[in-house]
Amino acid sequence: MSKKIKIEAKIIVAYQAGEHRILRDGCVVVEGDHISFVGKTFDQPVDEVIDAGDRIITPGFINTHCHMAGSPLDKSFIEDVGSRQFYLSGLPVMLRARGGAMRDEDKEACVDYSIVELIRTGTTTIMEQGGMGDYVADAAEQAGLRAYIANMYSSASWITPSGRQVEYDWNEAAGIEGFKKAVDFVERIDGRANGRIKGFLGPAQIDNCTEELLRMSSEASQEMQVPVSLHTSQAVFEFQEITRRYEKTPVEWLDSIDFLNDWALLGHVIYPAGHSWVNFAGDDLSILERTKASVAHATWVFNRRGIAMESFPGYLDAGVNVCLGTDTCPQSMIEAMRWSAVVGKIISRQTEKSTAADVFNAATLNPAQMLHRDDLGRISAGAKADLLFWDTSSLFMVPLRDPIKNIVYNATADELKDVMIDGEWVMKGREVLKINEQQANEKLQIAGEHVWSSVNPEVASSADELSPQTFSSFKV
Ligand SMILES: [Zn+2]
Repeated sequence: MSKKIKIEAKIIVAYQAGEHRILRDGCVVVEGDHISFVGKTFDQPVDEVIDAGDRIITPGFINTHCHMAGSPLDKSFIEDVGSRQFYLSGLPVMLRARGGAMRDEDKEACVDYSIVELIRTGTTTIMEQGGMGDYVADAAEQAGLRAYIANMYSSASWITPSGRQVEYDWNEAAGIEGFKKAVDFVERIDGRANGRIKGFLGPAQIDNCTEELLRMSSEASQEMQVPVSLHTSQAVFEFQEITRRYEKTPVEWLDSIDFLNDWALLGHVIYPAGHSWVNFAGDDLSILERTKASVAHATWVFNRRGIAMESFPGYLDAGVNVCLGTDTCPQSMIEAMRWSAVVGKIISRQTEKSTAADVFNAATLNPAQMLHRDDLGRISAGAKADLLFWDTSSLFMVPLRDPIKNIVYNATADELKDVMIDGEWVMKGREVLKINEQQANEKLQIAGEHVWSSVNPEVASSADELSPQTFSSFKV
């Protein structure tokens, strides 16, 4: 028999009749890894009563797009620069510049740091795509994080020999080999740590994958009942490459090769048909709605370069299942919700759209639907005990009237005090329990200094040439 814990709190964002609702002065009963009761009072015997006092308890966030082994090193490097030639995408230049410079120990430092950053900013379920699957699985298991992990693969990689256009270095066999290894990886890690660690498939980018590789990936995803995530419509050069190859938009092409279904998660879809930057007629959103494919919306990685989804509330109105993710740094779901809400208002030119409810749902219920998990993203009997405990009396949380608005528009990471995942405490009093934050920070600094001093000389002579310091050095 697992321990039964009753947690009493001032505000609980509980799930009822298909939506989040606010329960004041209620309680949540946690039994082992799951919630067995949520309501006003619970009078049956329990093993422990926790008075969470004036805390707000919300479900943990599901972060659907992450590259833990690299994203922390986007910080103080990738901002304020972008290539006009590639419509401000950072992909062909910045990532290539640093790719080869990253040693395994640098990537591991990034993963360790990421876990701390993710937990401290509300992610309880992460979807990680990269090449460090085994390390991430071990680290997430150890830290207590719930993780869906994919080792990415592709049939090609981007090259820019002229510096003027993106070309493709094809190796079909490597793509198929990568796919097979990725399937093995899913089967190998699935179900570890009481089912907390799971796999999914990650063909890397639509323009870097052959039709055959994508068909294989989609079939395997449906067979194994795991998501398949693919970067799609994430850059103007990619959109134009796909229209040149197939006379279709990226989303139209995926539809034509039977890739789209309710297990498909498209990274970004920032440039569907009709987006002003590609100015190409079509109705990709209807295709996404019809096929039930989901979108992983990581707004900041685009907003940082002056690019926006047109628009987040427009996708919701079209019936697209939009799920939030962080992609780059900061890997904060608080920031992801705030930027998604605000940019959605700016682009749609409406304030009553792109609401706190919309982004909160996109961080909880929408991704749970994509994962086919009715036990995540909600506080209800039978759901996993993935819970966030927020302050109510701190600087950014007073005055408190509407807890969701305060979290979406005002909270910082410091307002999030405690985190429980799978019924276990992973953070208490802002301290992530199983990872030493200070050590993780120090190792990331070392990794950064190594990578900045070793950028690919074919791309640039130095990190400062690629990404100049904001202010020049004081002369002495
Ligand atoms: Zn990505």
